[in-house]
Formats: sequence, structure tokens, C-alpha cells
Amino acid sequence: MIKHSYLTDKVGVCSSGIHRRGIFAVKPIRKDEIIAVWGGFIITQKEFNSLSRGKFRNIDDYATKIAEGFFLVSCKKGGLEDDDFFNHSCHPNAGIKGNILMVAMKDIKPGEEITYDYAMTDADFDYSFQCSCGAKDCRKRITTKDWKNPALQRKYKGYFSWYIEEKIRKARKKRSPRPAPDR
Ligand SMILES: [Zn+2]
Repeated sequence: MIKHSYLTDKVGVCSSGIHRRGIFAVKPIRKDEIIAVWGGFIITQKEFNSLSRGKFRNIDDYATKIAEGFFLVSCKKGGLEDDDFFNHSCHPNAGIKGNILMVAMKDIKPGEEITYDYAMTDADFDYSFQCSCGAKDCRKRITTKDWKNPALQRKYKGYFSWYIEEKIRKARKKRSPRPAPDR
């Protein structure tokens, strides 16, 4: 069967200490290797709003914002595909390239859970949660404003989604407007 997303065969879904289920390496994965390519449906902000008001109240769980006004949604007639089980960690081993690629940020050994930081992709959703990732530098409370944190911006440079990178770039521009040209 052709799936709408790609997941490397070097991982498998198992129960996770972080949150119910997670995705774990079953073979070694090298830094920069592609772990997943997310696919799905493209919906507009208007469609997102009406779906979230209707029977898809938890659409946040399946949606990734990819540009102002557009979302990629991985819903498959109410079913979930394996790529939806990537958990958040404050000390992740995977990051995002573009809007749909997940890559290894470092070499990953079999048995390690594949995680990314939700700050790499999420900015506009209205959620926050208590983190139990167990990392030494765990932020404890994860919110959709975390991408604004300068320390995280440095830590994940090159691993934010294109959408978040654009937001960071625009926020910086606003903070430091270019000096007026000399007359
Ligand atoms: Zn954490």
C-alpha cells in the first residue's frame, strides 16, 4: 500500500516513557539522514478553523503550519499514520528541514527514541503542556511561544521548519530595523 508519508525502515513504533507511544531507532541512523517525510492534505486557515470548530476539535495534533494561511494535515479519515507518534523532547536527536523533512541531528543508536522539539514547528497553536522528557535541560512547561527563546534559536539553528525560520527572521527584522541611509 502506498502511504502518504515516508518513514525510514530504521525505526519502529513502541511504547514510550515520554508519552504512550513513540518512534524508536531499530538500526543505527547517521547524522543528517532523513528519518521521515511528512505528507498529507493541504488546508487553508479558513478550513482549519471550521474543522477545529466541528468534529476535528483535536486537529492541532495532526496539523503542521507550513506558511501563513496554510496547514499540512496528516489525518487519514480519522486514522493516524506512524509519523504522528514522534514525541517532543527538550534534548532531541532529530530536527526539521524545510517543512516536511525530519532528519537526524546526530548519530542515533538502536533503542534510542526519535524525538524533536515542538518549538521547531509550532508557533500558532493554542496549547501548552507539562514536559516529562527527562532531559537535564528540560523546560518543564512547553508552549507555542518557545520558538521566540533566543537560546533555543541558537540551539536549533538550521533545524527549525521553514515556517518558523521565517517567523524568527521577521521578528529579528522588526527588532533591529536597518539604519536609515546617509543623506
Ligand atoms: Zn522536556
